[in-house]
Amino acid sequence: MMPGSPVLPGSTVGILGGGQLGRMIALEARRMGYEVVCLDPAPGSPCGQIAREQIVAPFDDVDAARRLGQASDLIVYEFENIPYRVVEVLEQEFRLPQGSRILRISQHRGREKTALAEVGFPVAPFRLVGDAAGLRRAVQELGLPCVLKTCAGGYDGKGQMVLNASADLEEAAAELDAVPALTGEWIVEKFVFFLCEASVIVARQETGQTATYPIGENSHRENILHSTVVPARIDGELQAKAEALGADIADALGLIGLMAIELFVTPDGLVVNELAPRPHNSGHYSWDASATSQFEQLIRATGGLPLGSTRLLTPVVMVNVLGEHVPAVLRGMPHFPDNVKVHLYGKRGAPAARRKMGHLNVLGGDPDAALNWADRLYQGRAI
Ligand code: AMP
Repeated sequence: MMPGSPVLPGSTVGILGGGQLGRMIALEARRMGYEVVCLDPAPGSPCGQIAREQIVAPFDDVDAARRLGQASDLIVYEFENIPYRVVEVLEQEFRLPQGSRILRISQHRGREKTALAEVGFPVAPFRLVGDAAGLRRAVQELGLPCVLKTCAGGYDGKGQMVLNASADLEEAAAELDAVPALTGEWIVEKFVFFLCEASVIVARQETGQTATYPIGENSHRENILHSTVVPARIDGELQAKAEALGADIADALGLIGLMAIELFVTPDGLVVNELAPRPHNSGHYSWDASATSQFEQLIRATGGLPLGSTRLLTPVVMVNVLGEHVPAVLRGMPHFPDNVKVHLYGKRGAPAARRKMGHLNVLGGDPDAALNWADRLYQGRAI
């Protein structure tokens, strides 16, 4: 199929990755009348439960990825830890509009921050370091407090250290000394004193058409997203700036597909923290509260269909359900008010603490009331 001709229902969408994002892409694709196949190493994955077929293979198995390509009219990836070299092979042979370029950038914090800074987008001052001496130099130049992060592989705050005082620096330096020198494998960022964290989700089509979602206001608990409030409780002008920033970044990077941009809102303006070139946890509210969910939008953007409306149909609060919350959700569900939409991802096995198992979209009303309701639920109090 030639790039550009729309991929219509009846066609098959191949999803690289079988997690909850793939599951929600698959559910939306199925609703619209697409067939779905996916590739994931874990049999019975959340997405595999919805797909017509799951190819069970590791993500670096190029032959298996080609089998996915042969079975699909359109391929999308659902998370950024798919080896970009596999995507590089597939994009030559099949229709994979998201491509490997942005994936490669977003897999490495150093490349990501460098790409953004090069074209003038606001990021925290940073240095790439490979050893303890480099770390000491970087901290001297940037000044404390700083955040030390691994360039690759970290997520939900894993592989991160906040350096407040010189004792923290010495501890981190000792850790870096303990691993073989890996040039440029760590990033030191100036600590950003933010008022709140927010994200903007932007979709961009091959034609250059872009659509941004309203800004989400994100709270994290122990580095894992806890909730997203939409509309964000930040000044309207700043919201417009964040949406414009999102569209500009999508244009600058030549995005095709959907991307979340995590932002720090500071007294001096917006600072970009991280890019995720795929549907994002902070966009899960869109399933129930937006005219077009982020999952449908990804299919539209990559499938050459006009982008759908991102209009917010109702204010909403998304609250994540982690493993430790599952019993309370199941116990409470018969008593939930009718504005609470339950999403559980069908992850197999006993729910491990801190693992994302689902989310609740609380529609309408007062965001503080919704957040308090979720706290009461999770603390086992009356709801
Ligand atoms: P990340 O994995 O880069 O998204 O970071 C996880 C969380 O750590 C963010 O959501 C922030 O709450 C915090 N964080 C990361 N980088 C910084 C920074 N430079 N300054 C302050 N907080 C940060």
